[in-house]
Amino acid sequence: MDINTITEIVTGLDEASLAGWREGDAFLGGGTWLYSEPQPSLRRLFDLDAFGWTPLELTPDALVVAATCKIQELYDFVPPADWRSGGLIRQCCDALLGSFKIWNMASVGGNMCLALPAGPMTSLAAALDATCVIRMREGGERRMAAAEFVTGDRRNALAPGDLLRAIELPVADLRARSAFRQASLTARGRSAALLIGLLDDAGRFALTVTASTKRPVRLAFDAAPDAAGLKDRIDAAIPDALYHDDIHGRPDWRKMLTCRLAEEIRTELAG
Ligand SMILES: Cc1cc2nc3c(=O)[nH]c(=O)nc-3n(C[C@H](O)[C@H](O)[C@H](O)COP(=O)(O)OP(=O)(O)OC[C@H]3O[C@@H](n4cnc5c(N)ncnc54)[C@H](O)[C@@H]3O)c2cc1C
Repeated sequence: MDINTITEIVTGLDEASLAGWREGDAFLGGGTWLYSEPQPSLRRLFDLDAFGWTPLELTPDALVVAATCKIQELYDFVPPADWRSGGLIRQCCDALLGSFKIWNMASVGGNMCLALPAGPMTSLAAALDATCVIRMREGGERRMAAAEFVTGDRRNALAPGDLLRAIELPVADLRARSAFRQASLTARGRSAALLIGLLDDAGRFALTVTASTKRPVRLAFDAAPDAAGLKDRIDAAIPDALYHDDIHGRPDWRKMLTCRLAEEIRTELAG
């Protein structure tokens, strides 16, 4: 689709062009959402592919995913054999129910910045306690926990002009055990609840709730809780108003799903 309000697309990106960011500008990831509906407030797009960032880099501590890495590129990554949670990468990619055309264009960073509750890259990054690397509008970088990057439905922690540069997935968490649960209202529907549990070798347990809530909720425990302990933490951390309400599921149903899937995860990892 043509966005007929756009008068310029900046393709030769450098630090200087980013400094000229103004109202009406937006960063262009894969464009699968940007080009899907009218954008009356936008005049200029900064095409992030122009940076030519390496999609995936494996360091001793992290899998560094460039914001411009396509969902397909992440899906094609073959995790080392000792990453017991390496399978989460494909499970989360699979939760974005798009055709190969979407997968080849949609970027990991675009998925997180769009900040839909059912953003599966947010689920992956939050569950693995990843770090977001943000290039600030005025220059310089800041880092923040991925679990706090999405702050609500279609809201994120970026200030205008800030750019999500990369997501660092820690190898230590990728080596931990994990359990994944996802449910939708219809067979090929958007996620109504996507929960991931992590249990490391020290016995620490973490449950990350996404899709059913407007923003991710990551609950960390020093040791795996019993069923009542887990339910109490969920109830305390997720007030009814935080459950998401849209065409893909009512809040009371999402709450029921969340509690059921959380208990399944607890039983699988620590039962
Ligand atoms: C059939 C279909 C199914 C879909 N299913 C899902 C789904 O299940 N879950 C879901 O969450 N989405 C879904 N989407 C929506 C969308 O396609 C995805 O969220 C996709 O990952 C967005 O990535 P993109 O690179 O195309 O983003 P774009 O459309 O390029 O950008 C999205 C937004 O993020 C901003 N942005 C992009 N990259 C950056 C960056 N690095 N820093 C700062 N801002 C940035 C843009 O300015 C824009 O506001 C679906 C779309 C289609 C067509």
